[in-house]
Amino acid sequence: MKTSNDNQNQELHRNYPLCGWSSWKVGGNADFFCQPENKEDIFYSLKWAKKRNLPVHFLGRGTNVLISDRGVEGLVIGLQKLNTYRERQEKGRLCIRALAGVSKAQIMQIFLRHKLAPALFLCGLPGDVGGGVVMNAGVGQDISPKEFKDIVDWVKVIRDDKVIMIPGEDIKWEYRFSAGWEPGLIYEVGMSWPIEPLPDLPLRLKDIALKRTQSQPLQSASCGSVFKNPLTGEKSGALIDRCGLKGYRIGQACVSNKHANFIVNMGGARAEDIHHLIQHVQRTVKSKYGILLEPEVRYMGRWDGYT
Ligand SMILES: Cc1cc2nc3c(=O)[nH]c(=O)nc-3n(C[C@H](O)[C@H](O)[C@H](O)COP(=O)(O)OP(=O)(O)OC[C@H]3O[C@@H](n4cnc5c(N)ncnc54)[C@H](O)[C@@H]3O)c2cc1C
Repeated sequence: MKTSNDNQNQELHRNYPLCGWSSWKVGGNADFFCQPENKEDIFYSLKWAKKRNLPVHFLGRGTNVLISDRGVEGLVIGLQKLNTYRERQEKGRLCIRALAGVSKAQIMQIFLRHKLAPALFLCGLPGDVGGGVVMNAGVGQDISPKEFKDIVDWVKVIRDDKVIMIPGEDIKWEYRFSAGWEPGLIYEVGMSWPIEPLPDLPLRLKDIALKRTQSQPLQSASCGSVFKNPLTGEKSGALIDRCGLKGYRIGQACVSNKHANFIVNMGGARAEDIHHLIQHVQRTVKSKYGILLEPEVRYMGRWDGYT
């Protein structure tokens, strides 16, 4: 059912399928779903949910979430329509401010146009800018910058009926994790980098893109790396591979033959299959190497009762 928000252009959908919003192509329906286009829409949606005592969840491009087959309770706010950005040059730096739903690919293109180093780590990174801050998305290679932490100057967070500005240095940045900005919705992100063009940047980008294509199953539905690399310095993918789990399958969910830290949807997988495969991989690696792999992917929705 589709209902219309009074006094708002924004549509409020009831029982909205989220499967198409997840790069894994799994998951049930959101009880309610909306796609704000501006701050006012967001304030309205948050108030609407609060009045009804409903939990609120945020969804960027869905490239790092495992959405339950049983759907998501309350209101899911999809951020794709928050998609405007501006760039300017100031004191020798290229400064970009982007709303949360701007894709990383768009930001990469801006840095590329100026031949600046952030294009290197952004190359091939899926998802949007908001998701990039939440996950401190980046690459493992030893380059600078290598993750969002290195380019973010500030974020604006919408919390209840306020917009709060948080400087980048007040955010606690960790490997594929950030804190200190929550609770709330990351609405806008300010990023910058010194204007020091790298003449060989286009060539290096080609190389990075090629490496991704060669090492990752980009033709299949996935969520990228399922597990964080353990603090021991080993790679999760290598540990999973050494356990002989490449190609291991539960239902239509399968440990990729190309990259053992990817779980791919072979077509028609259920979120439950992926969840059970995640658990199987964890158990197997733990029993062989004594290391409990921590999922990088975020669980979303009704997961209570699953073992
Ligand atoms: C093929 C593939 C390759 C990948 N390679 C990499 C890689 O090299 N490096 C890497 O770091 N990641 C990688 N990823 C994972 C993923 O793309 C990143 O984590 C990305 O930053 C997630 O962004 P998103 O917009 O999809 O976030 P989502 O998946 O939509 O959300 C992730 C989490 O952030 C929350 N969230 C999202 N936006 C907001 C917001 N504005 N305010 C508050 N909370 C919010 C969501 O509720 C959820 O908990 C890959 C994924 C795929 C599919």
